[in-house]
Amino acid sequence: SEENMSLLTCNASSGKIEELEDDCISYFIKKKLRVWFKQPRGKWELGTILSTSGEEASVSLSNGNVMKVARSELLPANPDILEGADDLMKLGYLNEPSVLHNLKFRYSKEMIYSKAGLVLIALNPFKDLSIYGSDYASAYRQKLIDTPHVYAMADAAYSDMLRDEVNQSIIISGESGSGKTETAKIAIQYLAAVGGGSGGIENKLLQTSCILEAFGNAKTYRNNNSSRFSRVVQLGSSERSYHIFYQLCAGASSALKERLNLRPVSDYKYLNHSDCMKVAGVDDARKFQELMRALDTVQICEEDQELIFKMVAAVLWLGNISFQVTDSENHIEVVDDEAVTSAALLMGCSSQELMAALSTGRAQSEDGTITKTLSLKQAIDKRDAIAKFIYASLFEWLVEQLNKSLQVGKKCTGKSISILDIYGFETLQKNSFEQFCINYANDRLQQHLNRHLFKLEQEDYESDGIDWTKIDFDDNQECLDLFEKKPLGLLSLLDEESNLPKASDLTFANKLKQHLNANPCFKGERGRAFGVRHYTGEVLYDTNGFLEKNRDLLPFDSIQLLSSCNCELLQIFSKVFSQSQKESNSFYTSALDSQKRSIGTKLKGQLFMLMCQLESTKPHFIRCIRPNTKQLPGIYDEDLVLQQIRCCGVLEVARISRVGYSNRITHQEFSGRYGFLLSEANVPQDPLSISVAVLQQFNIPCEMYQVGYTKLYLRAGQISALEDKRKQV
Ligand code: ATP
Ligand code: MG
Repeated sequence: SEENMSLLTCNASSGKIEELEDDCISYFIKKKLRVWFKQPRGKWELGTILSTSGEEASVSLSNGNVMKVARSELLPANPDILEGADDLMKLGYLNEPSVLHNLKFRYSKEMIYSKAGLVLIALNPFKDLSIYGSDYASAYRQKLIDTPHVYAMADAAYSDMLRDEVNQSIIISGESGSGKTETAKIAIQYLAAVGGGSGGIENKLLQTSCILEAFGNAKTYRNNNSSRFSRVVQLGSSERSYHIFYQLCAGASSALKERLNLRPVSDYKYLNHSDCMKVAGVDDARKFQELMRALDTVQICEEDQELIFKMVAAVLWLGNISFQVTDSENHIEVVDDEAVTSAALLMGCSSQELMAALSTGRAQSEDGTITKTLSLKQAIDKRDAIAKFIYASLFEWLVEQLNKSLQVGKKCTGKSISILDIYGFETLQKNSFEQFCINYANDRLQQHLNRHLFKLEQEDYESDGIDWTKIDFDDNQECLDLFEKKPLGLLSLLDEESNLPKASDLTFANKLKQHLNANPCFKGERGRAFGVRHYTGEVLYDTNGFLEKNRDLLPFDSIQLLSSCNCELLQIFSKVFSQSQKESNSFYTSALDSQKRSIGTKLKGQLFMLMCQLESTKPHFIRCIRPNTKQLPGIYDEDLVLQQIRCCGVLEVARISRVGYSNRITHQEFSGRYGFLLSEANVPQDPLSISVAVLQQFNIPCEMYQVGYTKLYLRAGQISALEDKRKQV
């Protein structure tokens, strides 16, 4: 029909965004079809075009007002009937306002999940919805419901794993506070429900998240329960340290409090230097009871629980240890007070040993060891390094215990589903080393997404010789190069500077500017600052503290102290540490072998291993979106959502899925499965010809498939039609 023709023209003319061309405009005027338009700095609004003149158009709004708008600002809107489509791919017009409006419409109806082709989009509802639980899980399992949901995606992963015997992964991405961790828990909940056998593994698995969150999550500016990096000794404003510190202080029984000599949160310097000690609506004492139950469930015995809490309390007391300057040379001694006594008691050493370790430094030289008194700054750094080391080791040890507990006796031989939830991208007013690491990790992950959603998909079409108009996407390789290139990348330069004794945050910033100014992803700024163009946009970093935090320096005499403590955990921690030093083949002296030990380089290595692990799985993608910054239900901030769907390429994914071929099957397989349906006496012999003959016999329209050299590419719906034919025979 005329209408279809015209819609096709409009669609065919789609560039990066679908613009209305002349012939379309007259069609839109004639049929009074709706368009989107936007005043400068205004919101997107719906209207119909009355007339155009030159570069201007008169548009009528639903309230009767008429406005003049630049023609180039007009974008086609979808007909009512498509409102709230559950897959953005189904939208006739795939432009930004249409996608934004569709998601908003669904969000207002509490439909927080939508598809964009292969990707599940999840908008954070910031309130509990009644769309989870065992009834829903079994309804999705039995395919009684097929609306987009984490359950549906987890089910797809589960079914694919069983059918193809291939390891699967569910990769959850999104900014800080967008709902990744909650989504991961929902996926685990589903898999526990449907994959449930005997042995209680499922319940244990669910309980592990309670433990991991207590020790690994903290309140940040953006998210009250944020998955975090490192933050034991320093906090930003409106931030808390890891939940466990507050939970323990609030919830420990009086007997336990006495054994640990615990005080209220406000007495501890590591916690009270932030302006925030409570999270609205969260009862830390109750959370502590939940944590104790979870520890019981995963069979961490009471003695180990006691040891864990001892370590947490030791960290808090270490933070309270203070120093006093004794001479004009800035030499110090440790103030002998309750903090020292308590920390030493909890760690299992004498106050004297602890005080000696904190006030002096020993370094190995060629003539043996030399001991010297530390300066105030050195002593504080050493104290903090020990506290960080104890906490980080405790976390690693705990994860190991959880893994042990989940594998009760059996070695895992079957196939697996991995669920990835990392700390999300974040931009604050002031961005430090923590944001630097987090955002780098997110750029790495985005690269993996791009590779799978755009690159591999399109390369397959090209190499198999089918007609394909390439869809562009934002490749973030340049940004990754900026971080990873050797020797002139951010991480290498950071390591180099961390190794120089006279270096400072300022010399580091200058070094970056000197070497990287020509890089398009780098921006030199005044003083200590520099900018990086991440896939989400530009972020300004302040180099203050970068060198110190990157060094992760733990002087070898601290390890000697910890290994001599009468505490089982500290002995394990120091043994693990020494082992890892041996493995990395570096004897640890006070001079730093930063190539092996720096936080930045370690992170790079870990990310590399993670990506390798993911590459060997079939990925399923979930993109979480944070609809507002207030962490409140019902608020949909269009600009905020737009910025997020832009950076993860939602439109492009939907577009690729729409014009792409969802089923691909080798000629061999296809002819084997459907070849017998051919009626002719003269059946061709080679698989490719058989495939083509089948398609022709059943009149599959030619725009529904493409024949590649090795595979047949089919649009959605064609395989099921053929399966029906097969069943009829
Ligand atoms: P970060 O990167 O900082 O770790 P995140 O993406 O993991 O952030 P979450 O901690 O999962 O974010 O979500 C933040 C908060 O949003 C949760 O504490 C919860 O209050 C709310 N939330 C997220 N998803 C849901 C959901 N499906 N239902 C109800 N509330 C949710
Ligand atoms: Mg999280």
